[in-house]
Amino acid sequence: MVDVIIIGGGPAGLSAALVLGRARRSVVVVDSGQTRNRAALHMHGYLTRDGIAPAQFLTLSREELDKYNVHIAHDKASFAARSREGFVVHLESGQVLIGRKLLLATGVRDLLPEIPNFESFYGRSIHHCPYCDGWEHRDQRIVAFGRGNAAVGLALSLLTWSPHVIACSHDEGLDSKHAMLAERNKLLVCSEPVAGLEGEGGQLHRVVLKSGRSIACDALFFNTGQVQRSELPRKLGCAFDADGGVIATDRQCTGVAGMYVAGDADKEVQFVIVAAAQGATAAVAINRELQDEERGTGNH
Ligand SMILES: Cc1cc2nc3c(=O)[nH]c(=O)nc-3n(C[C@H](O)[C@H](O)[C@H](O)COP(=O)(O)OP(=O)(O)OC[C@H]3O[C@@H](n4cnc5c(N)ncnc54)[C@H](O)[C@@H]3O)c2cc1C
Repeated sequence: MVDVIIIGGGPAGLSAALVLGRARRSVVVVDSGQTRNRAALHMHGYLTRDGIAPAQFLTLSREELDKYNVHIAHDKASFAARSREGFVVHLESGQVLIGRKLLLATGVRDLLPEIPNFESFYGRSIHHCPYCDGWEHRDQRIVAFGRGNAAVGLALSLLTWSPHVIACSHDEGLDSKHAMLAERNKLLVCSEPVAGLEGEGGQLHRVVLKSGRSIACDALFFNTGQVQRSELPRKLGCAFDADGGVIATDRQCTGVAGMYVAGDADKEVQFVIVAAAQGATAAVAINRELQDEERGTGNH
């Protein structure tokens, strides 16, 4: 029996573990090791850690937890439910955990375009997020890849980082609003399907179209969707917004008593620093709830 079980050991879960550990709570973090940015060479935009390798960030984070009552289980949570004590969580290894409170920091999974060779460039010259990697490609030739209108939306955003952007809508048409926006912003739009990618050593050189023509480029950004990485938020009764994000209060509470969510799973701003901040916010809320129960100060 521990005070808090955290499912997910990415930035959100580890940040929560740090705050809870320092509040002298016993914590188990269960992590299956599929942090969202693991394909990226570098992580940007985290104050004091701009440019660090994602794996190095996790190593440093885990090292900081060593001196607290935090145990990291490298395992997958296959089942979780409310129980008399709070929550019961079953791990794939067969271990069963019981905790008073539960934090879901399970993140999301990106739906990658089905383009041959995609993964050899992903995280190096193919990216999702202009804020995370746009600076590294400033003023370069960028392809914005998405289905139909989504490509134009992404391309318009990327114009902040480079004037040399082409929207690639992959054989899907644009509605009149997006066609008008593309025209007004003098944006080149290619609606031919993409057949392949060419480059070397992770550096993209060309997007090859089905007709055999190609677009010379230095980087590709894409937005082809994401889903919850874990089924647990749904199975545990979380509510979801229209975008598939777990709905949380400003204190990261899910609405299921004693259960919190932090990080990308709520599909708010998806940065490492935001995930860590949400983890810290959830940890304070969880500790307060435990304090209220222990001292009879709340409405529990
Ligand atoms: C290619 C790429 C590059 C990025 N670059 C940047 C960047 O430069 N800067 C930036 O700020 N952000 C960047 N991001 C976004 C960033 O990765 C996320 O915002 C951040 O990882 C969210 O942290 P999280 O803890 O919510 O989720 P994650 O980091 O995804 O961690 C979730 C963890 O939960 C685990 N998990 C899920 N389900 C279970 C289960 N059932 N049992 C056990 N464990 C489970 C997963 O295995 C994973 O380890 C990038 C994303 C991508 C895809």
